[in-house]
Amino acid sequence: MLKEFLESNKKCFKLVCGAGNECAEDVEKLVSLYSSAGAEIFDICAKPEILSAAKKGLEKAGIYDNRFICVSVGMKGDPHIFKAGIDEKKCVSCGKCEEVCPNDAIACPKINRSRCIGCGKCKNVCPNASIDMYECDVDLNIVLPKLVEMGIDCVELHATSEFDEDIWEKWEIINNCFDGVVSICIDRLNLGNKQVLDRLKKMISIRKPYSTIIQADGIPMSGSNDDYKTTLQAVAMAEIIQDANLPVYILISGGTNSKTSELAKMCDIRCSGIAVGSYARKIVKPYIEADFSKALELAKKLVDVSKL
Ligand code: SF4
Ligand code: SF4
Repeated sequence: MLKEFLESNKKCFKLVCGAGNECAEDVEKLVSLYSSAGAEIFDICAKPEILSAAKKGLEKAGIYDNRFICVSVGMKGDPHIFKAGIDEKKCVSCGKCEEVCPNDAIACPKINRSRCIGCGKCKNVCPNASIDMYECDVDLNIVLPKLVEMGIDCVELHATSEFDEDIWEKWEIINNCFDGVVSICIDRLNLGNKQVLDRLKKMISIRKPYSTIIQADGIPMSGSNDDYKTTLQAVAMAEIIQDANLPVYILISGGTNSKTSELAKMCDIRCSGIAVGSYARKIVKPYIEADFSKALELAKKLVDVSKL
């Protein structure tokens, strides 16, 4: 069980497949690869077909001890539940959006919505303002019971937006429907330090001590580069949570890479693990189809260095 694993004080590696990544084929391959490489937790979007794909990935890797699936639930205003859309009338076919997309979701002027993770990079580079982001939320009352029935180990709520009402509504549904370890992913894009801690204290007040993970998110979906600067905010956010002495487990995310564990150590952050998304997916992307051994070697190197 995930709780027992966290209690063991072993440091874990969480692969973030992307709360917005709805490409089943992609998720199956990533889960299989990173499970073989030693990752313990797999973060996927809250969709039954993606949960089935992640389970297939775990089966393919054939390792069943200490492997856990976490489904991520986005909020109103949370970038993880956005999808990009191109206005074809405005598009001048310059190809810039295709170049920056980290998940090969664009074949201009079309966007493959199942691959879009809502990072907004395409929108930022478009010279003709042809791209907009659209919110795609799920009905948690319908989807969560189905996921619980299929078997999950953790539910993660992205509690970062300024829409309090939506957070409390979803928090209540999660706590009523699921009695395992719950994760709260939170960053400071909309909230200050005090608001972050006030929100967390209120949220965990209805839970048993050490039944909650706080995923301290630096800058969501920003970890493509492998340097200290990219991971600085992730470690800083973990420090804020650590200093508050809450009865929770801390994972570091949002701008994580191969330097995160080292920087966290230098800053005396004691976390239960590192969650890596953009960077973990980026390093294996050129090899995952063509050269599995090479992809595995790179994934294993990242997993190992993250557990130091
Ligand atoms: S760049 Fe990001 S937001 Fe744009 S299509 Fe690709 S994944 Fe989606
Ligand atoms: S960046 Fe904008 S204008 Fe260029 S191809 Fe993409 S959508 Fe079209």
